Amino acid sequence: MSNIEGKVVIITGASSGIGEATAKRLADDGAKVVLGARREEKLEQIANEIEADGGTAAYQKLDVTVQEENDAIVELAKSTFGGVDAIFLNAGIMPTAPLSAMKTDEWHQTVDVNVKGVLNGVAAVLPTFTEQESGHVIATSSVAGLKAYPGNAVYGGSKWFVRNFMEVLRMESAQEGTNIRTATIYPAAVNTELLNSISHEGSAEAMEGLYEQHGISPERIANVVAFAIDQPDDTNVNEFTVGPTTQPW
Ligand code: NDP
Repeated sequence: MSNIEGKVVIITGASSGIGEATAKRLADDGAKVVLGARREEKLEQIANEIEADGGTAAYQKLDVTVQEENDAIVELAKSTFGGVDAIFLNAGIMPTAPLSAMKTDEWHQTVDVNVKGVLNGVAAVLPTFTEQESGHVIATSSVAGLKAYPGNAVYGGSKWFVRNFMEVLRMESAQEGTNIRTATIYPAAVNTELLNSISHEGSAEAMEGLYEQHGISPERIANVVAFAIDQPDDTNVNEFTVGPTTQPW
């Protein structure tokens, strides 16, 4: 039996791309998945597809910037499936633009979703993981969280934050003996709906060209999440950089 089977896994940003692919992959491996994102009709469709394939899924509208909605999806996992074993903090936006374009609303929105969304998700689940002395927090950072890219000052900063936060979470839970595992994923170009969040024309065009040339399928990232969860409970595989073999940047 795999170490995924029977686990209750909450996935944020589950309505498309990496989150959707991961939900389907984990459900195939026997996890009970709890899907959250703002587009409820997409969640319903994905949950139906999972159930039609013999999997188990629940879903609820979730805006990760709202603490109460993060708390509510943890409650949904408990009331529907009896607990929560893992959370995949994956919701994110990438409104790439040069700073000189002064898209200050997007700067703040990026921090709200990519940084505060992760804080809110962890705040919702950490008391449960601490009390039960087990749990798994997985987060989607980015290669932009490992190196700097022009156009991604704020996005990259939000993803550098995720790296630091996840590493300290890992160290503190080890110090405290709460057995909470962590995994941080650093994807490069993956073909999803992410580029739709770019409003700056020049940036959108440049990114679309790169993704068309190099982008890989979100199932590749789902494989890595499944690998992390499937490890024995005493083993924490912590960081994964995953991208197209052909991507030179
Ligand atoms: P998608 O745009 O396909 O998916 C993003 C998901 O985040 C959607 O489900 C969206 O759902 C959700 N989301 C956005 N804002 C919120 C919010 N406020 N509350 C809840 N959910 C929200 O792109 P990806 O699958 O690519 O993105 C997933 C993660 O991967 C992101 O964190 C992204 O930064 C990261 N990443 C992606 C890379 C790539 O090349 N694709 C590379 C590196 C990192 P909805 O709109 O329904 O709320």
